[in-house]
Amino acid sequence: MEIPARHILRQGCNSVVENNELLVDWSLIENCNWRCSYCFADRRYVSKFIPSLEQLKCAADNLLAMNKSRYYLYLIGGEITIIPHFVPFIEYLNEIFGDKVELMLVTNGYRPWQYFDNLIALSRNKLNITISIHSEFVKLDRLVSIVENISPKATLSFGLLYHLGKKAYVKEIFSVLSEMKKNYRFGLSIAPVLVPPSYTEADPNYTAEDHTWMKKGNKTCKLLEKISGTEPDSVWPFTLNYDVLEDGVERSLTSAAMTDKLTEGYLNFKDMYCCQGIGYFYLSHTGECRGSRCPINIGPVANFFEPGAQLYQVKKFPVAMKCQLDNCVCAPHHILPKFRDLRETLAFVRNAHKKIAMEHS
Ligand code: SF4
Ligand code: SF4
Repeated sequence: MEIPARHILRQGCNSVVENNELLVDWSLIENCNWRCSYCFADRRYVSKFIPSLEQLKCAADNLLAMNKSRYYLYLIGGEITIIPHFVPFIEYLNEIFGDKVELMLVTNGYRPWQYFDNLIALSRNKLNITISIHSEFVKLDRLVSIVENISPKATLSFGLLYHLGKKAYVKEIFSVLSEMKKNYRFGLSIAPVLVPPSYTEADPNYTAEDHTWMKKGNKTCKLLEKISGTEPDSVWPFTLNYDVLEDGVERSLTSAAMTDKLTEGYLNFKDMYCCQGIGYFYLSHTGECRGSRCPINIGPVANFFEPGAQLYQVKKFPVAMKCQLDNCVCAPHHILPKFRDLRETLAFVRNAHKKIAMEHS
């Protein structure tokens, strides 16, 4: 039976909050070596600013001073590997965080496999690499060599954008990579291109046939890896919790169960209170810290390129924002605690503030 989105009472990743962990959604750079026609690039990726190694190290030091039990650093751009000091930065993160850090990189895959091999050699924990495949620029032979050489050593995943202007090439890439899934462990999924202004809706020019092809392709991938015993590790190590009302009874569901039950609108948290800045926050390429990267946030609360910025949390975070969007599109936001009831929200925020204040006293 389907459960409507308005019957979601609570949502988020309980373990991250309970275990005092932190996912940092870190946009290291807003520039790229490519200019995909459908990218935010036209509007957003005009910043030539590249943070210095000293600024990046300062932000990392501030994060470490927050004394979390575990850090998930989700490093995205633009294209992060065009930062000239990206490799020394990764080296520094491993040095100061040690086993407490899990690095999750998102790249367009223009670097050869040897580049990633070097990053793997520097990493204490298994590196998590997601490659967004952009068919206007990507070279298929490069992706093939990354699968052959990197998939045995890292958690590797590909997100293939179904660009309508490059249908034939997209299908060729899919055919080659899905065939490789029989022998190698890596994730592969097809996603639609999202369109402005909100970038939450799929391109309206997709036909029913296009949607069917994407759906079928994603199903084929799952089937292939099951049959071949090559199921990859999940690139996203968070279990989402849903408390819902089903037939008037409150029930708890995990992400796996929710996909069956909440087939429509399971990422629709409209009118719920979204508690930002706990278990997750966003860092911009200029060091600004916000509770989310969605348009609903209270604005920057600190700059992590300044020493001592970690102390912001005593006063500001978590902060409850009333969600006004129909689709919570960015995966990192799915772990934020969300509540339907205002009183419950306020109690959660109050307790979190008390706890953080005690940790800093
Ligand atoms: S590779 Fe990604 S960031 Fe770069 S232009 Fe293409 S879509 Fe934008
Ligand atoms: S869309 Fe924004 S405000 Fe709404 S739940 Fe997601 S992160 Fe929170």
